[in-house]
Amino acid sequence: PPGTSGAAARAPSTGKPSVTSDSVINLDHGDPTMFEAFWRETGDAAELVIPGWQTMSYFSDVGNVCWFMEPLFDQQVRRLHRTVGNAAVDGYHVLVGTGSTQLFMAALYALSPADAAEPTSVVSTAPYYSSYPAVTDFLRSGLFRWAGDANSFVGDAYIELVCSPNNPDGAIRDAVLSSGAGKAVHDLAYYWPQYTPITRRADHDIMLFTVSKSTGHAGTRIGWALVKDREVARRMTKFVELNTIGVSKDSQLRAAKVLSAVSDGYVDGDASRHRLFDFGRRKMVERWRMLREAAAASGIFSLPAETSGRCNFANETAANNPAFAWLRCDREDVEDCAGFLRGHKILTRSGNQFGADPRYVRVSMLDRDDAYDIFIRRLASLK
Ligand code: PMP
Repeated sequence: PPGTSGAAARAPSTGKPSVTSDSVINLDHGDPTMFEAFWRETGDAAELVIPGWQTMSYFSDVGNVCWFMEPLFDQQVRRLHRTVGNAAVDGYHVLVGTGSTQLFMAALYALSPADAAEPTSVVSTAPYYSSYPAVTDFLRSGLFRWAGDANSFVGDAYIELVCSPNNPDGAIRDAVLSSGAGKAVHDLAYYWPQYTPITRRADHDIMLFTVSKSTGHAGTRIGWALVKDREVARRMTKFVELNTIGVSKDSQLRAAKVLSAVSDGYVDGDASRHRLFDFGRRKMVERWRMLREAAAASGIFSLPAETSGRCNFANETAANNPAFAWLRCDREDVEDCAGFLRGHKILTRSGNQFGADPRYVRVSMLDRDDAYDIFIRRLASLK
């Protein structure tokens, strides 16, 4: 990934430790390598062989709005949402993208009126995902431009990005703006049972998801959008067509296979099955317990308070266990928490990249066990 100078060397999936006790630990990116341990145990359930003659055409399903989407991928996306109950799929168009990042850009394109005098303002409540301003503005589009924190926005034409649970702080969020001309895009990348209780079936106009965070397959670069309105779906598809003509079919088939293996884990009450969300929740509960203990042992860090809710999927009360820790350094003399942690060979992303105070940092909770354990030991020892 970009910007990893000074990063710990990544062992390419050999199973060997990639870090030692004096390594630089890179928790800047949300690289979901924690999930490798689960997929290693699943045998051939998510394995795929693609003969040389397959997936050669540009086209997949010419009758569909999203003409480059593999029908199998569409089916498995709908099946998984029905299994988990986290989002409505009936009456929605499914669109596939090269990561949900591409579909985020597609949504900006689709929701910005082509004939507006001014670029449409794109806003999100701070602290917001650092890619939102970066991706919105890097091509200096005349259609839309970043306008910062939704809470200080004045006007009635806007696109509000609503990330829930939120990256970086794990907060459960709703849109804060409402007006006739305003539009919302719901980024539900973390609305899965390993991270948060599934309290309702989300049914927003545009919802974005990704295998990067649901199953851990970030390298497959597959995301999807659930879109109610056909014209918006058509325009989003047009963006992907102009941007990359389509989306790798090989990746779509692999994602379909992986999503199918996840759903298969929950087809009946057979607890011997490989169950991704059970694995993920166990891991996240354990990691959050370790992190809270380490912060308490250190005495100089604070974390958001734990919240919980009734999970309709697990049928029990479950805590919110965010994929990132939003860590605050409480030491008076430390104004740059990321710099302070870098001095102790822990790489994190500074609060100022999320429109927030640099006393905060965002720490990935999804790295491999060996790196996470070293991070915890180091954090607990800081005074
Ligand atoms: N939305 C959010 C909130 C994210 O945290 C991420 C990944 N960091 C993405 C979107 C992008 O995911 P993808 O890998 O599917 O492009």
